Amino acid sequence: MSALIIDGKQISADMRNEMISEVAELKQKGVTPGLAVILVGEDAASIVYVGSKEKACIQLGMYSEVHRMAADSSEEQVLALIEKLNNQDSINGILVQLPLPKHINEKAIIDAIRVDKDVDGFHPESVGNLVIGDDSLLPCTPAGVIELIKRSGVDIAGKHAVVIGRSNIVGKPVAMLLLRENATVTICHSRTANLEEIAKQADILVVAIGRANAIDSKFVKPGAVVVDVGINRLDTGKLAGDVDFESCQTVAGHITPVPGGVGPMTITMLMKNTITAAKKVNGM
Ligand code: NDP
Repeated sequence: MSALIIDGKQISADMRNEMISEVAELKQKGVTPGLAVILVGEDAASIVYVGSKEKACIQLGMYSEVHRMAADSSEEQVLALIEKLNNQDSINGILVQLPLPKHINEKAIIDAIRVDKDVDGFHPESVGNLVIGDDSLLPCTPAGVIELIKRSGVDIAGKHAVVIGRSNIVGKPVAMLLLRENATVTICHSRTANLEEIAKQADILVVAIGRANAIDSKFVKPGAVVVDVGINRLDTGKLAGDVDFESCQTVAGHITPVPGGVGPMTITMLMKNTITAAKKVNGM
């Protein structure tokens, strides 16, 4: 048996096409969704990510601002820029590219973003709203995981979903979103006993641990949906997921590849959040 490959690139492209039409319609009504990205310093990966976000905005016909600040910018300077963007009507979403230089308190920065412009979904109020089931902007990578599963025709309700990883940016919010979709959810982590046994009970297995190829077919129930969030750079320079794709694809029913699975969805969901925020603030 060979699993169906969940093509994140294609799903992301489909979503972006849908959004191009949606943005065009919004613009006709006088609303142009706008995203501001703040980059502090010269982290090589961050520069690439910020460039991709700017490109995606342009591709979709949205308004984009990128604020590139020197690595030695003070926390007060970053906070002052956020305050300005919080009050700027042309901006519906504010994203501060992480990680920030060490002298800046990440939490103070995230907390300063207006909740209805929190397109990364990391503000404590956004997280709280997600947990209690209120309307909120959803964290991009976790929301992308749900979108991939749904658009592959898999019904989440009633399934046993096992999430391996409990970080605030991936594991916990993925688990909350799966719960909201009426899955029965188990969360595993580095202290979980019998990980293999628990993972093997999953109808849907989401892996976000940050260890290349750590999960092989022994952890996978035949026919399960396997979503690999991991992005690991190998010594060879190649990218690898947390899931050993070759071994797991012989057992799984559906599986995401790395690259080309969850990765392409993150920025697409950021665009979706920016559109959602623009519609909301304009009462649409
Ligand atoms: P973190 O390092 O913050 O969290 C890793 C989690 O995995 C922790 O909860 C840890 O447990 C758990 N864990 C680590 N090792 C094991 C193990 N051997 N068995 C079981 N659980 C384990 O990572 P992130 O959540 O930030 O990221 C996870 C992966 O996802 C990374 O590869 C990252 O690059 C990728 N990622 C991809 C994104 C995308 O756009 N596609 C976006 C964000 C992340 P404990 O809590 O006990 O320490």
